[in-house]
Amino acid sequence: MIQVLQNEALKDRHTFGIPARSAVLIETDEYSDLLDELDKQLPKYHDFLILGEGSNILFQKDFSGLIIHPDNQEIKIIDQNRQTVTIEAGAGLNWDQFVEWSMNHGWYGLENLSGIPGSIGAVPVQNIGAYGTEAAEWIDEVMVIDLKSGTSFWMNDNQCQFGYRDSIFKTKEQSAWLVWKVRFRLSTEFRPNVRYQALADYLTSQDEVSPNDVRQAILAIRGSKLPDPAKIGNAGSFFKNPIVSSETASSLLENYPDMPHYSAINRKEVKIPAGWLIEKAGLKGYRHKNAGVYRKQALVLVNHGNASGQEVAELAEYIQDKIKAQFGILLEPEVRII
Ligand code: NAP
Repeated sequence: MIQVLQNEALKDRHTFGIPARSAVLIETDEYSDLLDELDKQLPKYHDFLILGEGSNILFQKDFSGLIIHPDNQEIKIIDQNRQTVTIEAGAGLNWDQFVEWSMNHGWYGLENLSGIPGSIGAVPVQNIGAYGTEAAEWIDEVMVIDLKSGTSFWMNDNQCQFGYRDSIFKTKEQSAWLVWKVRFRLSTEFRPNVRYQALADYLTSQDEVSPNDVRQAILAIRGSKLPDPAKIGNAGSFFKNPIVSSETASSLLENYPDMPHYSAINRKEVKIPAGWLIEKAGLKGYRHKNAGVYRKQALVLVNHGNASGQEVAELAEYIQDKIKAQFGILLEPEVRII
């Protein structure tokens, strides 16, 4: 089925809950319908945007181009052996329901990514990560539609160029690539990953940890510090954690000996929690008009009700300026700003 919606309101289509409109929005679960409709629409629009559940986006204004919401709900097993299972999942499926479904079948790896909002289509784009794992470890292949040519192709994990909350799909050149489905290779064996302190602390009283224990712990920890978008508009972490050289980290540690820091994936650089920097700058709970820094987690910017996209963007800029002035670090937004 396909729906072609004109002048569509976007307030309920993204988790910041900010009023904005799109010129045209196409929503479909059928690959062939999508290609047919694109043939008609693309000559009229130069600008387009792919929108999943809208959990990582900020609209500063109306979108004058074409929005495409891929709603492919397919799910099937492609391959299975004693150690692994390969599952093909449509872009429109909800991520957390997929995590729960895979765990209920005895397929593991995604437990630590429980509770992340959004759809399967966004998972490789953002290379979502939490509590010591990231999607790239579990993604085998991604099927992409090039909206400009109407061709589709599979990309393996190397070709996806996954990085820290990053992938080839975030580059400007590849902005016309729509993720239609993703193949995940999961394990039949559960290996708990509890190296993040908050998780280890939560599970400390248990001798043996089950997959569901890990999932429930993560849902509880997330629930205790991240605002529910149904109640307070937000897009999760607004900024990426900055990665700095070891020299920069050492000189910061001289002034701020309590600064948390972790070795980055390449080990030579150091990752510093952006939330700590914002809190240290005294901005936790700070308010700018109707936008604010969440009082329980400084990495999350919130819509206190009736905030405009502009107000949130102004707040983000103010935070960037303050952090740059105090620590010499430029915070990069993780959220897509339109
Ligand atoms: P936290 O426990 O307060 O820690 C702050 C930051 O320190 C985290 O962002 C994490 O980096 C880093 N960190 C903590 N322990 C670490 C360790 N043992 N090794 C390496 N790095 C470590 O974090 P939080 O803000 O509540 O978030 C908890 C987890 O949920 C984090 O992994 C965070 O990234 C994730 N999360 C992800 C999203 C998203 O994908 N958009 C949204 C919300 C939260 P990392 O961020 O690199 O893990």
